[in-house]
Amino acid sequence: MSAARGTPTHCPYCALQCAITISLPATPAGEPLIAPRDFPVNRGGLCQKGWTSAELLRAPDRLTTPLLREETGTRPATWDEALGRVVATITRLRREHGPDSVAVFGSGALTNEKAYLLGKFARVALRTSQVDYNGRFCMSSAAAAGNRAFGIDRGLPFPVTDLGRAGLVVLAGANPAETMPPLMGHLTGPGTRLIVIDPRRTPTAVAALSGGGLHLQPAPGTDLALALGLLHVARTSGYLDTPARATYRRQRTAGWEQAWQRAAAWWPERAERVTGVAVADMRAAVQLLHAAPGAYILTGRGAEQHTKGTDTASAWINLALAFGLPGTAGHGYGCLTGQGNGQGGREHGQKADQLPGYRSIADPAARAHIARAWGIPEADIPGPGRSATELLEAIGTEGGPKALLVFGANLAVSAPRARHVTGKLRQLELLVVADSVPSETARLADVALPVAQWAEESGTMTSLEGRILRRRRALSPPDGVWTDLEVLSALATRLGRDRAEFPADPDAVLAELRAASRGGLADYSGADTARLDDEVPLYWPVPAGSDGTPRLFGRRFAHPDGRARFVAVDHRDAAELPDREFPLFATTGRVLQHYQSGAQTRRVPELHRAQPEAFVEVHPDTARRAGLADGGRATVISRRGTVAARVRCVATMRCDTVFLPFHFPGDGSANALTNPALDPVSRMPEFKVCAVRLEPA
Ligand code: SF4
Repeated sequence: MSAARGTPTHCPYCALQCAITISLPATPAGEPLIAPRDFPVNRGGLCQKGWTSAELLRAPDRLTTPLLREETGTRPATWDEALGRVVATITRLRREHGPDSVAVFGSGALTNEKAYLLGKFARVALRTSQVDYNGRFCMSSAAAAGNRAFGIDRGLPFPVTDLGRAGLVVLAGANPAETMPPLMGHLTGPGTRLIVIDPRRTPTAVAALSGGGLHLQPAPGTDLALALGLLHVARTSGYLDTPARATYRRQRTAGWEQAWQRAAAWWPERAERVTGVAVADMRAAVQLLHAAPGAYILTGRGAEQHTKGTDTASAWINLALAFGLPGTAGHGYGCLTGQGNGQGGREHGQKADQLPGYRSIADPAARAHIARAWGIPEADIPGPGRSATELLEAIGTEGGPKALLVFGANLAVSAPRARHVTGKLRQLELLVVADSVPSETARLADVALPVAQWAEESGTMTSLEGRILRRRRALSPPDGVWTDLEVLSALATRLGRDRAEFPADPDAVLAELRAASRGGLADYSGADTARLDDEVPLYWPVPAGSDGTPRLFGRRFAHPDGRARFVAVDHRDAAELPDREFPLFATTGRVLQHYQSGAQTRRVPELHRAQPEAFVEVHPDTARRAGLADGGRATVISRRGTVAARVRCVATMRCDTVFLPFHFPGDGSANALTNPALDPVSRMPEFKVCAVRLEPA
């Protein structure tokens, strides 16, 4: 390790992108040190993951040489040999089966530059339509709902610091006390109350109650019915008739009456029957929303990861629009992005249906613009491809992918019905995984490519509030390790593209990304490196010459007529409900110490010690009925698989629901249980609800 000391950068994990300084040790044997920096979102705070993030750089099993799979196992190889095998196989498959036989899978953890170059690599170097990313598992429902309501999808259309002035924040399906603890500093000021909607009594729900707020505890998969019930209470209580709210709906929105017609059928007693939330609690929540001097509604994955996730997010947006919150000073609606670059990762073209600048790949004008930027005929840009789950499911089928190149994703743990997906990955003729550690997916690879990680590379990330941030290189990667950009550049060159089309230098890629995004919804053309280096707060859209857009919607929404759209939505059941054989709801989520598939955090000793194994949270009565005791072992069984987990009896759990964290691999993999049924709009799998039974292990 050698490089400058005291490098200001950002945490490698979640979308809050807390600011840190990483200092290098004086001796090679020393450890890099992490210290929080003063920055608006974390204000000098970090969570346990951030504090320990330097340990990731010293993971003892770092990949430092390419690995090739042979009949007898894997063996180290040179880069030349590894890339040669990848290109030879890809070339043969494209010749024999066409360009769509090769697929690419990206990630919301990739920098903006990588996400951009990966999408271009797929469309230009491989000419494949088969490219998608793991944000499809994360943000796609919120993104779809935001696009149809507001005409644009920026998770928080206002800076995080605005939340600190709120009188009330409604958190629907979000648990920031565990997933992004420094955010709680903005949500728990003396004047702020929280309403938390979650099937579990999470630490966030506890914070809500201790601050005089509410915890509404609906059955998994019923958030939409709850939002409709709340809208019903709001209207029938007369809370929506204030002159300001009526004027807002009339002047700034469209579609209110159609949306209300659906909500009109959700009188509170009906909503109570479906959700389990008492009418009195619904009335109390709506009264708080009515009276709050500044109110925000925020959604998270708990509301969104459903077969009706887009409609559920729309229902919460409808409630926010009915109260006149979006675009009104001191109020707002947003969704909390999860992955580190979950926001930027969905803007620059690694999605199956999208081109850089948040452009649609089906839009002729957008295609023409990007074709000019890439210097290729518009007809050479493929059309929309399969979404993530469908892409994986197509492996091994007629016309499905035969090769898959994975960058920054651990599908063997993070995909729904994970063991089935692992079987699919084994059917590929070529699985290439670029990763810094031997993740569960990298271990399945025919070619594993060792790549640099966060503090070893530079680039930009876009945080949950839409601010573009500098990720700075603090130290050199280990010998033999390349950056993802170097890998993409080398592969593209070997596939016959000009090196100048696929630069490996992040600043050169950013310059190209800025030009390609110009005029798009996510316009980064004004995000030049000097301003980013100076930490000028730049929120997209940031057209060239502008200072960016910290707050959207103040004057108009992004639809051509400037109005936001109510969307008429209705409740429907989850794709799978409990029955005699599988009598319980299972829901999944994250814990404080781990991040996503755990490929990184499970390698940090302090985090691993704190949360070493899979567990299942269950109400004590439910445990007793299943013959389980606190601390014992359970087998959790769904129609798709089984999970071995330690029993944690939690008296605040709903009796009909169990919870499992999804960070663990092998027999503790919660995603062995989950249902790959998809939201028809966003193609989001139903991670948050499936039917299970418990048995003693
Ligand atoms: Fe890192 Fe997120 Fe924790 Fe901040 S909240 S330290 S960004 S993991």
